[in-house]
Amino acid sequence: MIWEELEHSLADLDRDGLKRRRRTLEAPCGPLACVDGRELISFCSNDYLGLASDPALIDAACAGAREWGVGSGASHVVSGHLLPHETLEQRLAAFTGFERALLLTTGYMANLAIVPALVGRGDAVFADKLNHASLIDAVQLSRAEHERYPHGDLAALERLLSASQAKRKLILTDAVFSMDGDVAPLPELLALAERFDAWLVIDDAHGFGVLGEHGRGSLSHFGIAAHPRILYMGTLGKAAGASGAFIAGSETVIEWLLQRARTYIFTTGSSPIMACALLASLDLIEKGDDRRRHLRDLTTQLRDGLAGTRWQLIPSPTAIQPIIVGDNHEVVRIANALLERGLWVPAIRPPTVPKGSARLRVSLSAAHTSAMVGQLIGALQDLA
Ligand SMILES: *Cc1c(COP(=O)(O)O)cnc(C)c1O
Repeated sequence: MIWEELEHSLADLDRDGLKRRRRTLEAPCGPLACVDGRELISFCSNDYLGLASDPALIDAACAGAREWGVGSGASHVVSGHLLPHETLEQRLAAFTGFERALLLTTGYMANLAIVPALVGRGDAVFADKLNHASLIDAVQLSRAEHERYPHGDLAALERLLSASQAKRKLILTDAVFSMDGDVAPLPELLALAERFDAWLVIDDAHGFGVLGEHGRGSLSHFGIAAHPRILYMGTLGKAAGASGAFIAGSETVIEWLLQRARTYIFTTGSSPIMACALLASLDLIEKGDDRRRHLRDLTTQLRDGLAGTRWQLIPSPTAIQPIIVGDNHEVVRIANALLERGLWVPAIRPPTVPKGSARLRVSLSAAHTSAMVGQLIGALQDLA
C-alpha cells in the first residue's frame, strides 16, 4: 500500500533520533511553560523581549477586535487592506528608515514573496549555506541558479559573483543566523552587492527588535542606512511577540512586490487584530532599551557561567546561544535530563542544522530572570 512507505520512513526517523515530538502548552507563551500539568522554565521561544503575553498587546488586540472585527475578508489587493494594516506599514517604514514597507502574514511567506519576484531563470542567487529553510525554498521557487557559499565566507562569495554570467544577481542572507546566533557581515555584503550590481536581501527574523538603536535591527546595528538595492525582511512573531512579517525597501521595489509577489497577492490579508497588537508592540520595542539591556546581561551571565566547562558555546552576541553536542541521541538525552530538572531547552537536530552538529538551542528572553538563567547554568554544570 502506498502509505506503508511512510510508516517505514517514520520508523526510520524514530530510530535515528530525528522524530519531533510536539508538546501542548497549557499556559500562554512566557518564561514559565506549563506542560502536562508541570511547570517548566522554558528556553525555547523566540519571544526575545517577552512581549507575546504583554498586557499592552492583549489590550490592543481586544480593542482592535471590537473596532475592526476579526477577519480581513480578502487579499490586501482586493479589499483586505484595513486602516490598521496601512498604519502599521507606515510605522514600520519610518522605524526602519526605508521609503515603504509591505506587511505579510508570516516570514516564510515574505521570503517566498521576495525572491521569485526579483529573479528567475537566467538569474542567480548567492546564498549563505546556513540560511533559513524559507530562503532556500524561496530560491527553488524562483528557478534562479542557487549558488551557495560556505557560512560567512566573503572570499568564496566574491569568487562566485566574479565567475557568474547571470543576468540579475541577488545576495541572500540571514542577518542573525537562526541556529547559530551569529551576525552576517552586512557592510561587506553590501559592498559586494554594489560592486556586482546585485540585490541584497536580508532576513532579520532574529535581529528586528533586538539589535540596533531602539531595536531597529541588524542594519542599524552596523549603522547601514536604507539603500535602493537593500530589501529588509523583519518578522513579527519573534521579538515583536505577535505574528506576521514585513518587507522594507524603496518605493519602487515595494510597489513591484505589491504588483507581483504571489504569496502577497494570492492569500488573505492578516487579521486586523494582529495589526493592532503589533502597533502596541512597536511602541514597546521603541521604548525597550531596558528590556534589551536585561537580555544582554542574561546573555553575558550564561556565557560567563558556562566558560571553562565541557559545554561548547559558539561565539554569538545575540539571544540565541547554541550548545553544540554533535550526536542526535546524545542531545536528546541531555535535553531530557534538563527536563527532569524542570528546564526546557530544545534539542535541534538535522535537517534543521547540518549533520553531526545537533545542539541545544538556548534562547534567552528579557522575560527570564537572572535566577532562571542561574538554574540553567547550575543544571548544565551538574550534567557535565
Ligand atoms: C522564523 C524565521 C523565519 C520565518 O518567519 P515566520 O514568521 O515564523 O514564518 C524566516 N527566517 C528566519 C531566519 C527565521 O528564523
